[in-house]
Amino acid sequence: MAKSERSTVGERLYWCYANQAMAEMATTDRAEAYGRLHYMVRARLYKGLRTGSMSAGSLMRDQAVRMKLPQECVYCGSVQFLSIDHIVPVNRGGDDGGDNAIWACRRCNSSKSDRDLFEWWSATRGGLPPLFVVRIYMKQALRYFENRGLLGQDWRTVEGSAYDLAMLPESFPGPRELTFTPHHARKRRAAETEAESTGEGPDAGPAAGGEAAGTAAE
Ligand SMILES: [Zn+2]
Repeated sequence: MAKSERSTVGERLYWCYANQAMAEMATTDRAEAYGRLHYMVRARLYKGLRTGSMSAGSLMRDQAVRMKLPQECVYCGSVQFLSIDHIVPVNRGGDDGGDNAIWACRRCNSSKSDRDLFEWWSATRGGLPPLFVVRIYMKQALRYFENRGLLGQDWRTVEGSAYDLAMLPESFPGPRELTFTPHHARKRRAAETEAESTGEGPDAGPAAGGEAAGTAAE
């Protein structure tokens, strides 16, 4: 484990954001495992973010995704007792505007409360939250630390921040263990069930990538 390599706030955030982008790509492609192309995308994005030649995708794009989602809890897919939740709680430095707001059911909302997203999720469910939520969280975090001029600081020395940087995942599970949103997970399951019933199977041939299954970290 090369620990010192990602010692600044920026490097830690960029790495997680690049992992998120890779996982999102593999998950929406319905890949069985990460392949060469996915790792390439991650490496390029991480480098681009660090050198400033690339930036995190626009929040407008997230808004477009959101418009297409059914009205349901973005954490669990429930359609009952929905209310607006801020992915990053406003009292922890989250944006008060629509960029940070999603639908959540009463159960998820009260379970999460004012906790950090990753802290809440790992304490109650394990694995990673839906990738769309992670994406919004990461953009909020990047903006938060950039606005405060903290991207170059050693992340372990940051005090009193709204984000628990120790909770950021350093590696992501394989695409089969991830979902973009609960809505997309249902669609994927339905497609696989249909493929099974027609005897075609969900693209079960040799996986596109030759990497070891389920390890996003090298
Ligand atoms: Zn829910």
